[in-house]
Amino acid sequence: MRKNRLPFYVLFIFIAIGAIVAVFRENNWYFLMFAMIGGICMTSVMVTDRYPRLSQTIRLVQLSALGIFLFAGLSLRLNVNFQFPQIIFDSAAGIVSGALVQFLIARAVVPFIFGNGFCSRACWDAVIFELADQGRKRGQDRSGKKRSEFLAWGYLAALIVLAVIVSQWHNPVYDDMARRYWLIGENLWIVVFGLGMTNLLGRRAYCRLLCPFLTLSGLVSRFSIFKITPVNPDACNACSLCNLSCPMMVNVMEAVRNRHRIQNRQCILCERCVDACPNGCLKIAAGNPLR
Ligand code: SF4
Ligand code: SF4
Ligand code: SF4
Repeated sequence: MRKNRLPFYVLFIFIAIGAIVAVFRENNWYFLMFAMIGGICMTSVMVTDRYPRLSQTIRLVQLSALGIFLFAGLSLRLNVNFQFPQIIFDSAAGIVSGALVQFLIARAVVPFIFGNGFCSRACWDAVIFELADQGRKRGQDRSGKKRSEFLAWGYLAALIVLAVIVSQWHNPVYDDMARRYWLIGENLWIVVFGLGMTNLLGRRAYCRLLCPFLTLSGLVSRFSIFKITPVNPDACNACSLCNLSCPMMVNVMEAVRNRHRIQNRQCILCERCVDACPNGCLKIAAGNPLR
């Protein structure tokens, strides 16, 4: 039997990132933190390999574990706001903080390997969105609103303008209490606004239509090594269960029938389509980043 080396690659990648960040930030704690994240991801991949039928449950456990660790254990505890405006606040003050480090790693480096995998396996806001999705019927949202790049980039531009204005007026970087208000306020806004959008516009509507992180990491994820890949396209009977299962409204079936890997910038590698396919047509797999 061929041994699955993916879990060890995952651990190695996170350890390597942790070592680089620890040297750059002169703090060994970063090494331990990334080793722990890698350990959780590795365990998740190994357990999924052993119990493939439980893959979505295992993914949700991983998402919750990493999401809670990053938000409660790191963000709240150290008062580091990882949301997008903080990067502008820090830039205006000439500071490099955890917000920029997290952004570069999760949104610029890792997407070359695992695409938008952060969104299905580590984002703390996604923990709430996924819980809210549990009560929605499969396929209920297929007629929901599709992404508008104009809207997504407009939202990103509006956030930048807002953050620049705030940074000139009262930059939270210099005030611990203001930073905490921004940290809690922004995350509350995303959750409450995101749940409202879910209710009106379908599953993961905030992620699908607005999130600035996905807007940016989507530019990179198109070139990721790991993508959802048709491994048995001849078995496809056009049942469209893959499309119905996708929270990001990606046309998976079309890609399978055209024998293409999923190149959609919105794919978050949640593997719901993989699990939904009754004929084993799909798999997450490494391949040519350009295809
Ligand atoms: S799209 Fe944004 S809010 Fe949604 S999971 Fe990704 S980072 Fe989190
Ligand atoms: S295409 Fe598949 S892996 Fe990508 S978001 Fe849709 S269901 Fe998830
Ligand atoms: S679920 Fe599988 S068989 Fe059905 S359309 Fe999708 S790829 Fe084809």
